[in-house]
Amino acid sequence: NREWILAERPEGEPDTDSFELREGERPEPRHGELLVRVRYLSVDPYMRGRMRDAESYAEPWSVGDPMQGAVVGEVVESKSDAYDAGDHVTGNGAWADYSVLDASEVAPVDPSVADLPAYLGVLGMPGRTAYFGLLDVGDPSPGETVVVSGAAGAVGSVVGQIAKLNGCRVVGFAGSDEKVSWLTDDLGFDAAINYKQVDDYRAALDDAAPDGVDVYFDNVGGPITDAVFTKLNLDARVAVCGQIAHYNDESVPTGPRKLPQLIAPRAKVQGLLIGDYATRFEQASERLGSWVASGDLEHRETVVDGLENAPDAFLGLFSGDNIGKQVVGVSEP
Ligand code: NDP
Repeated sequence: NREWILAERPEGEPDTDSFELREGERPEPRHGELLVRVRYLSVDPYMRGRMRDAESYAEPWSVGDPMQGAVVGEVVESKSDAYDAGDHVTGNGAWADYSVLDASEVAPVDPSVADLPAYLGVLGMPGRTAYFGLLDVGDPSPGETVVVSGAAGAVGSVVGQIAKLNGCRVVGFAGSDEKVSWLTDDLGFDAAINYKQVDDYRAALDDAAPDGVDVYFDNVGGPITDAVFTKLNLDARVAVCGQIAHYNDESVPTGPRKLPQLIAPRAKVQGLLIGDYATRFEQASERLGSWVASGDLEHRETVVDGLENAPDAFLGLFSGDNIGKQVVGVSEP
């Protein structure tokens, strides 16, 4: 059994030196546990925080700890009455060929409803984050303008589509022309801005969001957020979901930046954590699942094949290599 561990804490931008692939025995499930052959594993921006020795909402890993995250796979040995060998499940596991999962903490997966990688994206934690972050925190009304940063990623691509289903004008920021075309041609965004090709984000928003911004769903922070803050309408809502532009910073940028821009619009800025919505996950999963089944909600996953390539897939999140949800393909059926 191969398993990735945290080899050292990165400073600034991580590289592959932070990870080490170890060979060991296949783990043994105990009472109430499942041995799962991992088919796909998820790499997520929040994992950068867990590599840091600092208190945060996700507990920091110690050097030598196995890398962990959402996985989807097939039960090969069950020590629980709830699942049988051959069932497919998703839950929190190791970046490994085989992982032991607590049967009480996994969810069943039906490969006939959607391909397995979708359960790590639109039908997994990122999809639910989009759902609650937009609808509960952003609280959009029909006709309002919603701007989303990191728009072509796992969370952002779902946010924009749910906003469209709610009758909003939707504008996305993304880092390539291919992403911009996907957003506008396939997902129905009204406009998208390739922020790597545009110098003046505010001017770009003048065109893309001529009526100003009522809801800003922020996945990235930095200069994109600075520009959106200058376009907020009266009573605007800002949902702070992520700040990936800052995850590799060793010191926090200081100064008021664009906070004065919040005063006149009386804007509300609210952080969100998906774990707070656990009691309503089922509701979100049902709605997301029915939108996917009806074709109202498109999804895409970028698959990097091979457990040995998991660190590269993770690092690619910071250079925007993924369109939609980034996953790693670990094993074939
Ligand atoms: P994504 O699939 O969106 O992947 C990250 C994307 O961020 C990249 O594809 C890249 O796209 C973009 N990006 C990277 N660096 C920068 C930068 N410096 N400036 C602008 N864009 C950048 O990841 P997720 O959908 O999984 O997560 C999106 C955000 O939501 C993250 O910040 C994450 O931490 C947060 N999150 C928060 C949760 C919560 O409970 N609060 C739960 C889940 C996610 P591009 O090509 O456009 O640059």
